[in-house]
Amino acid sequence: MREGASWIDANYDHMPTYTAPGHASLMTGAWPWKNGIVANDWFERETGRKVSSVTDDATTLLEGRAGARGYSPRRLLCSTVGDELRQASSNRSTVIGISAKARSAILPAGQHASAAYWYSLDNGNMVSSTFYFNRAPEWVTQFNQRRMTDGWFGARWDRLLPETEYLKRAGKDDEPWENLDETSKDSNTFPHVVTGGATRPEKAFYRAIDYTPFSNDLLVAFAEEAIRKEQLGADDETDVLTVSFSANDHVGHRFGPNSQEVMDMALRVDRQIGTLLDFVDEHVGLRNTVVVFTADHGVSPVPEYEIAGRPIGRRAPESDLQKAIEDGLKARYGRRGRPAHDYIETFGGNHEAGVINSNIYLNQNALRRDGIDYGEVQKVVGELALRMPGVKRYFTRVQLEGNRVSLADPIARRVRHGFFPSRSGDVVLVLDPYNFYFETPDDPADARWTATHGSPYRYDTHVPLIMMGPAFAAGKYAKPATPADIAPTLTKILGSQAPSCSSGRVLAEAIKHGNKRKRR
Ligand SMILES: [Zn+2]
Repeated sequence: MREGASWIDANYDHMPTYTAPGHASLMTGAWPWKNGIVANDWFERETGRKVSSVTDDATTLLEGRAGARGYSPRRLLCSTVGDELRQASSNRSTVIGISAKARSAILPAGQHASAAYWYSLDNGNMVSSTFYFNRAPEWVTQFNQRRMTDGWFGARWDRLLPETEYLKRAGKDDEPWENLDETSKDSNTFPHVVTGGATRPEKAFYRAIDYTPFSNDLLVAFAEEAIRKEQLGADDETDVLTVSFSANDHVGHRFGPNSQEVMDMALRVDRQIGTLLDFVDEHVGLRNTVVVFTADHGVSPVPEYEIAGRPIGRRAPESDLQKAIEDGLKARYGRRGRPAHDYIETFGGNHEAGVINSNIYLNQNALRRDGIDYGEVQKVVGELALRMPGVKRYFTRVQLEGNRVSLADPIARRVRHGFFPSRSGDVVLVLDPYNFYFETPDDPADARWTATHGSPYRYDTHVPLIMMGPAFAAGKYAKPATPADIAPTLTKILGSQAPSCSSGRVLAEAIKHGNKRKRR
């Protein structure tokens, strides 16, 4: 990197370190305790079901499977940088979010975005929802008619560099823990031939694309088309384009962060971003652009990864944890002639899960029915969980709502920042580093994971944070920073109001004095 200001100690200050909370923080400058995006999915008490951060039954999908439900930012409770610019410009600013994942497109763009577009696993299109407009813009339909995705059917994904480079940095290609998901119809090793096991482009293939660098190529092509057709950066108003490259995360989950596949994705996304920046330079001029580069979370090495012959962590099914807690509750309360089988809220698809995002939701009606103290049972559940291997700490609703945790304790603070009373559980667990309780996917066609993220530890909280543009003095900055600092820093240099719940700091150490935004 030759230009740009880079914060080498940038960390998320919330837990769980998941996609939706990360993306929600970036452009709101706020943690989940304010912006409400506590996880990718959570248990919704009002409806008694699991919802996603962007589920919206009042919308339908555009350009996707006919009649499919759409998504929207209605669960995001704070304004974004884009929302502020839209408001200050009477909607003349254009704000567009693009990603392979719906949440990663929708949340950074915000409540009042012009549009958000994401990738359809059903038909390989770039899709949107009726939240933004009644039908997709003509250029989007035309882009989809080119069937760019279909062109990668049977494509080979091979290493960009000679294998010796990968052996040096990532180790060997074939590790026993890689690609646990046999339904992917993919191999553990290069070259990966992308068909998803299908004989022609169809759903299994469109899903397979998500786990390849071709997904990022599609996003770059679509982002370029958006810049061209929506004339981003063409007038005096500041426009916002967010592009989130989801495939790097998918490949990391499937093969683990130390894999040759992840190394190759990193090499390629560097070039893909270069392609996009060259396009921006040509059409808008980088001197008229602020570029921000960061990530929504880090990742943990796979638990089976060995150092000096010993695995660094442990992997167990989440159902073990749930069963231990349920059995403990039955032993304690059932003896008094109570049913005790329904004290934990369960939900889910093919299996009845009761633990989500390391949160346990208590069934308050059942507790009331049996005359059990709500505060007491929170502690009982926490203590039961602590007896399980790999569980390090627990926090109760009583502690978190009553602000009875020390914000000087970084783990407690990250749990508190991730706790939104009406959406979070009653007991929040923190595991030992490198330990996982894995969920069984609802859909058997969904990937089982080799590696994941979500903890409050450095490997999951630490992300790159680079801001580049005429306002920034290039260099490396050691002062601690967080991704919640991005939004207030951007609005500071753009001369607009910071987003409504923004609590991050302005990264003033890198802002050039006397900077005035140059208008073309
Ligand atoms: Zn992930």
